[in-house]
Amino acid sequence: MHKRRIFLRSISTFAVATAAGIPLSSLAALQKLDPKDPQAVSLGYTEDTTKADKKKYPNHTASQMCSNCQFYQTAQQEDGYAPCTIFAGKGVAAKGWCSAWTKKAA
Ligand code: SF4
Repeated sequence: MHKRRIFLRSISTFAVATAAGIPLSSLAALQKLDPKDPQAVSLGYTEDTTKADKKKYPNHTASQMCSNCQFYQTAQQEDGYAPCTIFAGKGVAAKGWCSAWTKKAA
C-alpha cells in the first residue's frame, strides 16, 4: 500500500512537470562541485586534469580524468558534468581529476 502511494506520487509529479513543459532534467539540476570545497581541496580536485598539482600528486597523468574514473556516473552526465560517488550529490567535470581517481573497469 505504502509503496503504491509513493509510486502514484511519482507519477503525478511526472505528469505535472511534463504538463507544465518543464524538462524533467531541470527538476534535478546538478550542483557543480566547488573546487574550493574543503573535501575537494583535500583530494586535490580540479576541473581540468592538466592543472592537477604534479608535485603533490606525482603519479597523476593527464590521461586520468573523471570521465574514465570508476566513480564518475557517466549515465547521468549533462553539459560535461556528472555526479561522483566520492562527492555525494555534486557534479564533477568530465575533464576534471582528484586523487581518488581509479581507472574505470573496461
Ligand atoms: Fe573525478 Fe573520480 Fe575524483 Fe570523482 S573520484 S572527482 S570522478 S577523479
